[in-house]
Amino acid sequence: MKKKSIVNNIIHFLVQNCFMFTVTVMGMVHLTLLGVSWFAGVMPMVYINACSVVIYLLCVLLCRFGHIMPVYIFIFAEVTSYAVLSIFLIGWRSGAYLFLFSIVPIILYFGCYLFKGLKRLIILSTLLVIDFAEFVALYFYLNNEVPFYQLSFGFNSFYLIFTTFVMVFSVIFYNVIYIYSNEVEMTNLTQQNVKLTADASKDALTGLLNRRGFLPIVNGYMNGKKKHHFCIAFFDIDNFKKINDSFGHDYGDEVLKHISKLIEREMHGCDICRWGGEEFIILASSGLCPDSILESLREKISGLHMNFEEQDIHVTVTIGTEKYSPDRNVDAWISEADRKLYFGKNNGKNQVVYVTN
Ligand code: GH3
Ligand code: MG
Ligand code: MG
Repeated sequence: MKKKSIVNNIIHFLVQNCFMFTVTVMGMVHLTLLGVSWFAGVMPMVYINACSVVIYLLCVLLCRFGHIMPVYIFIFAEVTSYAVLSIFLIGWRSGAYLFLFSIVPIILYFGCYLFKGLKRLIILSTLLVIDFAEFVALYFYLNNEVPFYQLSFGFNSFYLIFTTFVMVFSVIFYNVIYIYSNEVEMTNLTQQNVKLTADASKDALTGLLNRRGFLPIVNGYMNGKKKHHFCIAFFDIDNFKKINDSFGHDYGDEVLKHISKLIEREMHGCDICRWGGEEFIILASSGLCPDSILESLREKISGLHMNFEEQDIHVTVTIGTEKYSPDRNVDAWISEADRKLYFGKNNGKNQVVYVTN
């Protein structure tokens, strides 16, 4: 697990610093070739590699300041010129043409970052065609030519194996970066989706379920085996408009949050929904909503101490409750609780109504 996260961190770092990493590695490749050319005694190749090292040092600076476009141009120009010059100087067998293949992933990766849409298609395919055409031209013109410097078998082998390694590394590296970036994006999207789905089913002010989140839960219970054991309690805060009118809408919001917290605390284990405005519905198994619990909740709400600019404020609620009955659908079940609630509103408020006749 720990090893996996270290690997992930390294890949994440490389993805974040991909351009810088590319030019640094290319600079190091040319530094190595500079050393080998020195040992092989091919001085023009020493100078050419020195120029390449300078170009990549400049690219490091450009990357550092976020100028990726000139870096892209420099890489393409450097690699295509380097391939021609080195094959001309040390021959086809050195394998320098392989650099033309090792920049294919770089052309694609940098190009996709820099260009979008049709421009991307045109520029990338043009560069790839030039790259491949150069390889074909070099093959036909220089493959059988005697190079300026005849390298020993050992040096030729080193050049060939080294450039092959650079090419394979380039293909693997950019594939890994691409796959990893895709995976990270997919994970982020999945997480965002989960969060959006959760947010869409919750009320932003109180954090309780909203209708969208609540109704599927009620339907789930109604389709389950234990549906006979459920009841709902429909709440409405009494004279809430007065609270808003007297203390302001923001304070009204605070009252809604306070009451929601209290309901959550007292009715732990139930599904609680802010049905709308100052109305709430609790769905509880009958064990969790016997009359005494709802009565005690009503009392606790009326005893809740809230104040506004040192004024004591009390709110009360009226509750209508209804047990599950198999001959009703969800709407009819909620309507029946609502009917009882309004019966309570018309009969003095601040009460729990179980039966109306
Ligand atoms: P009753 O006792 O009959 O229920 O009277 P009431 O004043 O509570 O009911 P009424 O339906 O007349 O008013 C409800 C008020 O709730 C009106 C509306 O402005 C307020 N309200 C609805 N949603 C919100 C909200 O999110 N925040 C605040 N602060 N007020 C809200
Ligand atoms: Mg209301
Ligand atoms: Mg009300």
